[in-house]
Amino acid sequence: MTRVVHAPEDPASQHQERAEGRPLSVPIHQSSAFAFDSADALAEAMAGPDRAYVYTRRGNPTVRTLERLLSCLEGGHAALATASGMGAMSAVLLALLRPGDHVVAQRCLYGGTHSVLADLAERYGIDVDRVEGDDAAELSAALRPGTTRLLLLETIANPTCQVPDLPALLATARAAGVVSVVDNSLASPVLCRPIEHGADIVVHSTTKYLGGHSDVLGGAAVFAAPELYGTVWTRAVELGAAADPFAAWLTVRGIQTLPLRMRQHCANAELIAGRLAAHPRVRRVFWPGLPGHPSRAVAERVLEGGGGMLAFELAGGRTAGREFVERVRVARLALSLGGVETLVTHPASTSHRELDEGELSAAGVSVGLVRVGVGIEHPEDLWKDLEQALDQGLDRS
Ligand SMILES: *Cc1c(COP(=O)(O)O)cnc(C)c1O
Repeated sequence: MTRVVHAPEDPASQHQERAEGRPLSVPIHQSSAFAFDSADALAEAMAGPDRAYVYTRRGNPTVRTLERLLSCLEGGHAALATASGMGAMSAVLLALLRPGDHVVAQRCLYGGTHSVLADLAERYGIDVDRVEGDDAAELSAALRPGTTRLLLLETIANPTCQVPDLPALLATARAAGVVSVVDNSLASPVLCRPIEHGADIVVHSTTKYLGGHSDVLGGAAVFAAPELYGTVWTRAVELGAAADPFAAWLTVRGIQTLPLRMRQHCANAELIAGRLAAHPRVRRVFWPGLPGHPSRAVAERVLEGGGGMLAFELAGGRTAGREFVERVRVARLALSLGGVETLVTHPASTSHRELDEGELSAAGVSVGLVRVGVGIEHPEDLWKDLEQALDQGLDRS
């Protein structure tokens, strides 16, 4: 908690007189480039990621404050902040993968990550194998000695809330010399710090819980060791994936209340998940803290809380799912999650609309599934809203 409130000191003003009052809030260095007096000093600054600031695509003091904060929260060596979560994921994958490489990925991945991977696989002849993520033996069997380059996991999979056994899987990857990448967007470092379990790179969509207010897009990659940081930084500079200073500032500001918000997201989700599970129109509820969820035992070991995302299956199928998301009044129908407000979506008609019924069920998404990004509202107001949306359907059926 203390680490998030006391953001690292502005790296650009560390030389300032201590007798002067200094700002409590991080200054926004809204500058695309930085001026030098000496040509040699400018040339020297261009030699790598940790030199003086030259040009904001390569580094910026406000962005650096966010990077230091993220690195500290995840227990990493260094972090790279990007314009979006996909910017971070694409930079990591493009920096690390070469034609002919083999990748092992969790079956249920964020749609954008799934698309980049499918695209790279097709264009560069990269082989991708899928694993459920529950079992180190399944991963060992999928590894190809000498060719497997990367293991790709998500701490909490969307929308089924599956939690892979990170300690077992990451240890297996490390023993085989495979680089492991964990997307920790939905847990946030409050609930899980994958580097402590052996991850090499942690990726975030800071758009979600870290930013936390649905007002800024951003992403990050946090590195356990310097070598991978250098490699990915170079690729991110080439791709132009850099975070904007003002976006970085909003994210730093959001992070300062992250533990408080996470606590409320988790408590609200627990109450809503329990009540949904007892409702006659609900067939099944997915939330990793709920008794009966397949990942509950793993979640108890790996996560410090069940998180704010849950999903539930309506007995009435596709029509019931679509109608439900249009009936909510406190919650809103919108694609994102992780902000202070509760958002609902119907994956079968939005994020997973391209999938036929067979593919949907392979992804663990039924046609009547509704996803809820539970916000930090008063939980009784929220439940009343969800209940009225459920009960309207009951009256008519
Ligand atoms: C939203 C999300 C992303 C993509 O992040 P953007 O900031 O939208 O680019 C990646 N992974 C997960 C798990 C997400 O929820």
